[in-house]
Amino acid sequence: MERLTSWLAERRNQGLLRELVPVERVGNGRLRLAGSPADLLWDFSSNDYLALAEHPAVISESRKQLEELGAGSGAARLMSGDLSLHHRLEEEIARFKGTPAALIFGSGYLANIGIIPALVGRGDLIFGDRLNHASIYDGCLLSGAKFQRFRHNDLEHLEELLRRQRGKGEALIVVESIYSMDGDRAPLKELAALKDKYSCLLMVDEAHATGIFGSRGSGVIEEDGVSAQVDVAMGTFGKALGSYGAYAAVSSEMQAYLVNRARSFVYATALPPAVVGASLAALTVVQNEPERRLNLLAKAAFFKRCLQENGVAGDFGHSQIVPVLVGDSTLALAAANLLRAAGLYVTPVRPPTVPEGTARLRFSITLHHPDDLLRRAAELVGRTLADFEQS
Ligand SMILES: *Cc1c(COP(=O)(O)O)cnc(C)c1O
Repeated sequence: MERLTSWLAERRNQGLLRELVPVERVGNGRLRLAGSPADLLWDFSSNDYLALAEHPAVISESRKQLEELGAGSGAARLMSGDLSLHHRLEEEIARFKGTPAALIFGSGYLANIGIIPALVGRGDLIFGDRLNHASIYDGCLLSGAKFQRFRHNDLEHLEELLRRQRGKGEALIVVESIYSMDGDRAPLKELAALKDKYSCLLMVDEAHATGIFGSRGSGVIEEDGVSAQVDVAMGTFGKALGSYGAYAAVSSEMQAYLVNRARSFVYATALPPAVVGASLAALTVVQNEPERRLNLLAKAAFFKRCLQENGVAGDFGHSQIVPVLVGDSTLALAAANLLRAAGLYVTPVRPPTVPEGTARLRFSITLHHPDDLLRRAAELVGRTLADFEQS
């Protein structure tokens, strides 16, 4: 098809073409690109922040459930796929998040495109942060509600929109607690106050906060003490928890409603036992080993300090996600290739994932990264960006 050919060629010319690169994981945060078996690369792209995907307790519980219950769950939860194991995970999540109930979904993407259209529809309003994840945008689009985008973390802009637009229908404010491409956090206390003032629903996506923030590790909602004001606390098992799937921590009534109304829950096969087992074990590790998240945040702070010492400017956020802004997409790609040649696997993040002109290297810090590696990586980044500026 000629349209495909020219679209692909144009993307490639603009440095925007995304391509799949198979990797072999060799463990401990390192991988090999298929086809270049000699080079071991340090993985700075993985969201397995707490290194739980390889944790022995997580693997053994996953294997146990696989062997006892089989490879697949066989059906949707509302058919015969509803295992008591799913309920156990939901009870654990509710306890962890301090909510009366919880519901698990096949993935974070499925959770967001299922929950948002269940909450609002035609005639209703959504107020969303500009930097929300694509799955949140897709959920908003699917809902048919009128969508208002506010400037990133800009409470004044949000309130101005609320004042002008709020109207009579249902209204939803939807944000992330830790933004996936910037690593900064949402002002949840202030958002909760606005939600109360303008009688809205509040949904918070904790994909990158679950397991890391809060005194129990349940997220920023816990840390900021706003649990009672968040109507839907959504999060994923595929990042810091090292497994797969997602949850919504909610009231019992909301849980019953989502079971009936979230189409990505109703019409999708239940998560397989091995995956649920892994998530259950990961939740236990997170709660029993708080030193993991403290250690992770200390590593991230150390890396940011090293970047500054190497002349890399920027706002590096407040989390284990460290964005190094490059600006131009082609340059970001070139920088990533140079780092790869030096043994670091870093994803260049380009539009449309991030706004035009803000292409960046996104470093995901994990417990696999030794401090001397972080120091060396920061030096390399400093040198690479300085070379770009000179040429
Ligand atoms: C990764 C991510 C998702 C999607 O979760 P998956 O389980 O990978 O589908 C949703 N929201 C945010 C903010 C994310 O970073």
